[in-house]
Amino acid sequence: MSDFKYKRVLLKLSGEALMGSQSFGIDPAVPLRLAEEIRPVYEAGVEVAVVVGGGNIYRGVQGAANGMDRAQGDNMGMLATVINALALQDTFEKAGMDCRVMSAIEMRQIAEPYIRRRAIRHLEKGRITIFAAGTGNPYFTTDTGAALRACEINAEILMKATNVDGVYDSDPRKNPDAKKFDTITYSDVLNRDLKVMDATATALCRDNKMPIMVFDINEPGCFERAVSGQNVGTTVFE
Ligand code: UDP
Repeated sequence: MSDFKYKRVLLKLSGEALMGSQSFGIDPAVPLRLAEEIRPVYEAGVEVAVVVGGGNIYRGVQGAANGMDRAQGDNMGMLATVINALALQDTFEKAGMDCRVMSAIEMRQIAEPYIRRRAIRHLEKGRITIFAAGTGNPYFTTDTGAALRACEINAEILMKATNVDGVYDSDPRKNPDAKKFDTITYSDVLNRDLKVMDATATALCRDNKMPIMVFDINEPGCFERAVSGQNVGTTVFE
């Protein structure tokens, strides 16, 4: 434990991260790899909460673009996050890591309802605790769910796993001259409309002084180094 700076972290995984080389759904190799990324931190006794997205299966805005009621589509998107959470739980447990899934939408047969105090208890007992179904409300994202849960459980930092190694002033996949920030303020992210997280999530972190670290989940060992206190990507704070 002494090697790690943080004692309680919230890891946000996008649904797309679970697709791996596939164009939809879950590449089974990805949860396995994620389990191994989390293992050293988990075994050292760091409390790890996870929020997983659902974009690999469904997003409400897609449905709305095709004429579906937005709230209906968002409900489908939230259910997609539960599918991902159950897949992660299965993998983590098979890897010998204790894990609970708590859902913001009650579905007691397959996941516990989200109860803040119980979530904290799971974490204290060393269980990886996955928060599914986002905030439980349409018109939000799982980034906002991650910001909300990080604040609620008093996580020390929100670790936002992405496919790039930090926050850039423009898209590094399109602009070879894009400049990476080591640190940046919440206000700069919002004013420059940088795509770290959506504005609601960023504002919630700003208002509650929740630091965000944006890092590349495809880089082996990055999560472990981040939890040990290295700035492995971009840190967003005041
Ligand atoms: N969603 C929602 N409320 C929430 C979180 C998620 O309605 O609090 C829905 C929304 O339709 C979203 C989908 O669930 O598009 C999947 O979540 P998200 O797009 O955040 O997943 P990610 O981009 O992280 O894969």
